[in-house]
Amino acid sequence: MNYPNIEKNDPRLYEIIKREEQRQKEGIELIASENYVSPAVLEAMGSILTNKYSEGYPGKRYYGGNEVIDQAENLAIERAKELFGAEHVNVQPLSGSPANLAVYMALLNPGDKVLGFSLDQGGHLSHGHPLNFSGKLYTIIPYFVDKDTEVVDMDELEEIALREKPKLILAGFSAYSRSMEWKRFKEIADKAGAYTFADIAHIAGLIAGKQLESPVPYFDVVSTTTHKTLRGPRGAMIMCKEKFASAVDKAVFPGVQGGPHDHINAAKAVAFGEALKSDFVDYSAQVIRNAKALSSALQKRGYRVVSGGTDNHLMLIDVYGSKQITGKEAEKVVECAGICMKKNMIPFDPRKPLDPSGIRLGTPALTTRGAKESDMEMVADLLDRALMSRTDDARLASIQKEVREFSLKFPVPGIA
Ligand SMILES: *Cc1c(COP(=O)(O)O)cnc(C)c1O
Repeated sequence: MNYPNIEKNDPRLYEIIKREEQRQKEGIELIASENYVSPAVLEAMGSILTNKYSEGYPGKRYYGGNEVIDQAENLAIERAKELFGAEHVNVQPLSGSPANLAVYMALLNPGDKVLGFSLDQGGHLSHGHPLNFSGKLYTIIPYFVDKDTEVVDMDELEEIALREKPKLILAGFSAYSRSMEWKRFKEIADKAGAYTFADIAHIAGLIAGKQLESPVPYFDVVSTTTHKTLRGPRGAMIMCKEKFASAVDKAVFPGVQGGPHDHINAAKAVAFGEALKSDFVDYSAQVIRNAKALSSALQKRGYRVVSGGTDNHLMLIDVYGSKQITGKEAEKVVECAGICMKKNMIPFDPRKPLDPSGIRLGTPALTTRGAKESDMEMVADLLDRALMSRTDDARLASIQKEVREFSLKFPVPGIA
């Protein structure tokens, strides 16, 4: 992408964009929720579709002049339905958290009981954090992983569901490396008389790319962000069975939002179109192969991987247990070497959220740049050497040079 008008009219911002381009080009991106969108997605986001107001839905708008916008939104809906086999899709949610707020509003009343994955074991803020709307408005009952296997304990979940009789069971995660048993969730929810809600924000691309099982056939409602493995613009969507369509649409608008972001919805259409192509299947498969390769390469270097490995694009590493480095320190040290990742709680973490025992790593971004399994050995080596250098600034600076050299072999879409 070139920015000749920003360069001319706003040199200060131009310089900021250029510095961020350099950071993205020269660093190793291991943040599991991030990706690099295509130039076509960038173009749609920068298009004149941003100029329109279109509260409402295609064919039923509260503003005139929406015939063309209707076509763009319908294109996004059509492609999302094809990609996921959903009965009904709402592409208007501005991001993952507002999408989830709309789902709660569609299915629940304040105070209702929700069974959700414990936040310190892999759940998301919007699954019941006490400072989030979800924790303030609803009665959240957590379920957990088994202490030994570190995999969700479905038998315990069933016991809790039958005892507590929640109105909604929420399956989904931000930091869990194993497949979810969607069908079993549905069976348990049916026994307990609960709605089923899956939040596939992290893994939607791997499901669209046919690598992971989909909850869409089983679940009442499924939400996802569009900017993580799905590799679209920042935003979200909600899929549901036809019988929840009206409740979900009303909850998004006018329940939670006003006018949709039409340029972003158009970029969602572009990204869904890309995900429908056969090379997206190859991409998704490569993301998982890379994650497995990175996880084994780190295990070989003495790092404990939570649950012993990964089925998806991410992994949790117990850096404190393995190497006596806290997650906070690890995040800071590797950033000095040009490697980006996130500190993270591990299941039954003895430490605190702001300085936990673990880190979370993911391969979607590196895979978009073309990295393969064989490159993961190098990534593990650089990461390990950076962590072992800790406060040795000279060594970290020299590792950063290697990181830069490695990264520049892999072009970033949209950056010249
Ligand atoms: C990232 C994520 C979200 C929220 O997305 P935002 O767009 O950051 O609001 C919701 N749920 C899960 C499981 C996520 O991982």
